[in-house]
Amino acid sequence: MDRRSLIKALPLGLAGTTFSFSFPSLLAAIARENYSQWNYQNPEQWGNISEEYRACKMGQQQSPIDLKSPIKSQLKPVEISYQEIPLQILNNGHTIQVNSIPGNFILLDNQKFELLQFHFHYPSEHRVKGQNYPMEIHFVHKNQQGSLAVLGVHLIQGQENRTLQLIWDGMPSQKSPERLIAELNICPRQLLPTNPDSYRYFGSLTTPPCSEIVHWVIFRDPLEISLEQIQQFKQIFPFNARPVQPLNRRFLLTSI
Ligand SMILES: [Zn+2]
Repeated sequence: MDRRSLIKALPLGLAGTTFSFSFPSLLAAIARENYSQWNYQNPEQWGNISEEYRACKMGQQQSPIDLKSPIKSQLKPVEISYQEIPLQILNNGHTIQVNSIPGNFILLDNQKFELLQFHFHYPSEHRVKGQNYPMEIHFVHKNQQGSLAVLGVHLIQGQENRTLQLIWDGMPSQKSPERLIAELNICPRQLLPTNPDSYRYFGSLTTPPCSEIVHWVIFRDPLEISLEQIQQFKQIFPFNARPVQPLNRRFLLTSI
């Protein structure tokens, strides 16, 4: 970036000030951008990387958790309204993500949450009575107030899943911008179990900034994918799961 484009890029209020005054603040911003990089080697350090990631170490309602000793409760099943979507896929450096289009949504306790994207973790982030599953999918939804609802699906080794294979065939092995796989539609419903029974609790994003804004719904039944499919993902992401966090003063519910 040369000086002219640098000045153009500065916020309006700084454009009239001298170069020597504004340059250090830009350097600081660049340094901060690099500084805020995070990875799965030291998730216990996320909260120290940046002030914006403070919830990762200070939060009392963090995710994922170990799903154990749930309270049986009469929960209304989540209503899922997903259509086919054109396959838009990216590798964001932390996971493989498939972006949705408007019109796919869920109703959770009569609140509408629009599907934004879904992505994958190896191994699973949520445990069940201390046990990991090989993988986990997160379907991320947002309501008009900005709260999130995430549907979690555990994956186990079994039969190949065809919808997943369409995604795997298009997944970039390196960090990439979003790419549209031409004329290929997928139905995200094929990546959910048929049994609606689930665990529910309130928690956070499992990646920085670890914001505590997430209504979690984890299906009790896992979905089968093949060993080859697990290995294909593992080749790109050998480990992208945050360790389980304490439940603290929260309730874990499950449908009767
Ligand atoms: Zn996730």
